[in-house]
Amino acid sequence: MEQILEAINGGASGDEIAALPIPESYRAAHLLRSEQEMFEGVESSERDPRKTVHIGEVPTPELAPDEVYVAVMASAINFNTVWSANYEPVSTFGALDRLARQSEWSARHAQDYHVLGSDASGVVVKVGSAVRAWKPGDRVVVHCNYVDDQDPQSHDDAMMASNEMIWGYETNFGGLADLAVVRANQLMPKPAHLSWEEAACNALVNSTSYRMLLSPNSYQIKQGEAVLIWGASGGLGGYAAQYCLNGGATPVAVVSSDAKADVLREMGVEHIINRKTQGYQFWKDENTQDPKEWRRLGKDIRDLIGRDVDVVFEHPGRQTFGASVYVVGRGGSVITCAATSGYMLEFDNRHLWMRLKRIIGSHFANYWEAWQANQLICDGRIQPILSAVHDLEHTGEAAYQMHHNLHEGKIGVLCLAEGEGQGIDDPEFREKVGEDKITLFRRAG
Ligand code: NAP
Repeated sequence: MEQILEAINGGASGDEIAALPIPESYRAAHLLRSEQEMFEGVESSERDPRKTVHIGEVPTPELAPDEVYVAVMASAINFNTVWSANYEPVSTFGALDRLARQSEWSARHAQDYHVLGSDASGVVVKVGSAVRAWKPGDRVVVHCNYVDDQDPQSHDDAMMASNEMIWGYETNFGGLADLAVVRANQLMPKPAHLSWEEAACNALVNSTSYRMLLSPNSYQIKQGEAVLIWGASGGLGGYAAQYCLNGGATPVAVVSSDAKADVLREMGVEHIINRKTQGYQFWKDENTQDPKEWRRLGKDIRDLIGRDVDVVFEHPGRQTFGASVYVVGRGGSVITCAATSGYMLEFDNRHLWMRLKRIIGSHFANYWEAWQANQLICDGRIQPILSAVHDLEHTGEAAYQMHHNLHEGKIGVLCLAEGEGQGIDDPEFREKVGEDKITLFRRAG
């Protein structure tokens, strides 16, 4: 990879980059199939990604006609890195085996190793014979929707395709590596004013939040609506808060520390609830919820904004879902894309039907939604929320930090990039957007 990196750093042309040999192996953060039962019977909180994420050389797979090799400059940790590395709720090797049955090219994915990573920024170094829109030398970011365009439903909304998968989670050859294998329809232009690590941290969570709050495929927030955002300084929440502020909606942000509240205040969020100091106990024990505590949260929201929220941005799942359904106002919507604290949810259905509320399921984003979300970053209207940066060698530690909620915003990972702050192609625009805004989470992190 040294030759490729040298060419990129030396400003080589696309043709020069394309002429370089692709190495037979590359450095990657990966899991081993032989370890997939390592945590059987171990509590979720005791599972440790530092034990399962290995950094080492893996063989370079052949390139399918609709794919490109990306020299990965930076990547990011997502919660799916934690799920895969902790082998919960299931081992991702099962997904690789299912994918492998789809076609001859798909068979490459079933390996005894799984290269993780669902975000990346970097440079296209080689394109397959059927790739039309991209060429070697293009500076790109990668979104993680891995869709077969031969599925008819993918042409309405790619997220409805029956074989839709998440790259680097349900597929192999992901972005936490020096090289990634990416379908051409996952590529988007790299925001020119951002560094490699700032550019790499957005696509997965930004696109997911975009679809949840701005897409006709999920919900479209309106001016004046109030939105309760759980984990508002986390990955999804940090973008959801920005979408509310940009669109004239009122975010009511829930966080668990004063430091997180301060970051959001600087972003412009006025209404913040610290769930730690409020000490909500929505569950009396493992099986019994406490509606009094739902009501206490509802009162706290009304004390802040004078009324109920119209929307709840949900992802913690079991711990909060009953409260979310309760506190959203009459006719309101709970939009959910995850269940970090447990996926067997429980809520009082009377509050849902009597008050005509809705629950909307949402998952990642189709290419066009991801593209539009990326465009807002390119235009400087949505800012990256990068708070910490690790080397690829410390991927396991970075995933551990996320598993234990020791982070804010996004954790970046440097792959080929030799340090932070590289890859900024448009410093003038960066200055116009504002260094303070772009680095808000990094300064606090
Ligand atoms: P993250 O960066 O860890 O942020 C989540 C935030 O949620 C945390 O910062 C924490 O904030 C809050 N939180 C965690 N546990 C909580 C609990 N029990 N009660 C209340 N708040 C809690 O993670 P993320 O990237 O935003 O992802 C969140 C979840 O969404 C994960 O399960 C992930 O796998 C999933 N996800 C799904 C999709 C999809 O397409 N379906 C896409 C992205 C992510 P405070 O401690 O400050 O309150």
